[in-house]
Amino acid sequence: MNILVINSGSSSIKYQLFDMSNNSVLASGIIERIGEPESILKHRWLKSDGRHEKISLTQKIAGHKEGFQWIKRVAEDTGLSNKLKELFGIGHRVVHGGEIFQEPAVVNDEVIEAIQKMSALAPLHNPANLTGIEAAFKDYPDVPQVAVFDTAFHQTMPAHAFHYALPYELYKDYHIRRYGFHGTSHQFVSKQAALYLGRPLKELNLITLHLGNGASAAAVRGGRSIDTSMGLTPLEGLIMGTRCGDIDPSLPFYIAQRSGLSTNDIETMLNKESGLKGISGVNDMREIISRAEKGDDLASLSIGMFCYRIKKYIGAYYAVMGSLDAIVFTGGIGENSAIVRRKSCEELEGLGISIDENKNNSSSLKAREVNQDNAPVKVLVVPTNEELEIARQTVETILAAK
Ligand code: AMP
Repeated sequence: MNILVINSGSSSIKYQLFDMSNNSVLASGIIERIGEPESILKHRWLKSDGRHEKISLTQKIAGHKEGFQWIKRVAEDTGLSNKLKELFGIGHRVVHGGEIFQEPAVVNDEVIEAIQKMSALAPLHNPANLTGIEAAFKDYPDVPQVAVFDTAFHQTMPAHAFHYALPYELYKDYHIRRYGFHGTSHQFVSKQAALYLGRPLKELNLITLHLGNGASAAAVRGGRSIDTSMGLTPLEGLIMGTRCGDIDPSLPFYIAQRSGLSTNDIETMLNKESGLKGISGVNDMREIISRAEKGDDLASLSIGMFCYRIKKYIGAYYAVMGSLDAIVFTGGIGENSAIVRRKSCEELEGLGISIDENKNNSSSLKAREVNQDNAPVKVLVVPTNEELEIARQTVETILAAK
């Protein structure tokens, strides 16, 4: 049973072709710089002898439809035609499902219209996601397609967690509330954590920390998200690569008064020039750690701020759930940075959280624990795999609809 997973962005298309009989990746790739003079396609595939091969091509690709045709041609040229003929379904990552989608949905005209409506809440993402859906329909009209939403997992948040303390009409008129993102990743690592712990997910209280260039925390009780750090947009919450996370809401007005910058400029500043980059000058955590080790004070400050914010959310979500079974670190930083894990959990022994330095400093591609043996709360490092989760949810949704 083969599933194609597509993540269509404004100027890129990422794809993975899965064989769901053993969760193996038959092919994966990305087209970047769509619409620019030189688009780049990177394609990696599994050959019949079991080895992987990759190619990189450069060509002008004007739009997403052309991009899909290119992917199809490259897939055929690399011996994947039969695999594509056997497609059971196509799963699409869709960023915003608003309050309409609490689960993935088989794509039909109604679903497309609803995703279009939600574009007001995610103007950069939803239209690009739709372009992917339309292009895939054109090439595979008979293959069922499923939209898997970044926001859906957090739709279980209770009203007291998702409302902003703003005039209630804003919620009724414009759907202004907290939605949360990275849902597919929080859901995937929660399930993996339960498997690792050998306990039913229904019994577990987890804090999941997705720490990549974008970063968010979630309080997951019994497999359901009851709070998360991102809000109406991904700007709220943790400090990120280039996003500020939580700030005093008056700040944009104050910045405008003092600097004369427009609201657009300030929005760009908060999203693209702030966070780790705003303090240290760069957004890549590896580079920041290397600068800090060479004595760069602002790099050290940015790491300290990043981890302090995470620690505050750990405390808050512990209080929200009343007890805690495990903290789960994931994402490029969460999976790979021992320093960030250590600093985010330091001096939390009073909450039953203590890290074992040896375990924390070792690395593995598999789920593992880095807490001290006798610590009441497990601290897990779990590699995320949003594409595999989308593929699984695509299969489940198609089978449930049959
Ligand atoms: P993601 O968005 O999940 O791909 O994560 C990207 C972030 O992970 C970047 O800030 C990278 O610098 C960071 N990252 C990747 N590997 C490491 C590592 N070994 N140590 C620290 N940060 C890392």
